[in-house]
Amino acid sequence: MTECLFCKIVTGEIPAAQVMESDRTLAFRDINPQAPTHVLVIPKDHYPDFASLAGAADGLLTEVAGQAHAVAQAEGIAASGYRVVFNTGPAAGQTVFHAHAHVLGGRAMTWPPG
Ligand code: 5GP
Ligand code: ZN
Repeated sequence: MTECLFCKIVTGEIPAAQVMESDRTLAFRDINPQAPTHVLVIPKDHYPDFASLAGAADGLLTEVAGQAHAVAQAEGIAASGYRVVFNTGPAAGQTVFHAHAHVLGGRAMTWPPG
């Protein structure tokens, strides 16, 4: 039994607004969107953070990145521009410790981020 929120979204135990799915990745809308498009892309297997996902030697991070771009295309924000963010660790504001890419767009993004 996992207590991980995003693992429960993968199993369907907790519902989410799914946007896209592949064998090893899942994309769903953030429950508290910070932009007109705010989608989270996750590996279905549990990796606690970006560091551990980056260390996966089987191309999984590339798949997550590819799905993030596919989401941007499907949402119609690929041409105008979008942001992909991995908050990694407490100082970066990570709150859910199952690695996830935020795909944000549909408005002008400010820089630097907070
Ligand atoms: P982090 O702060 O770890 O970078 O991002 C976690 C994200 O997960 C936040 O943007 C938050 O709104 C989102 N989130 C938290 N709980 C849920 C949930 O139950 N469902 C969905 N779809 N998103 C969630
Ligand atoms: Zn998990």
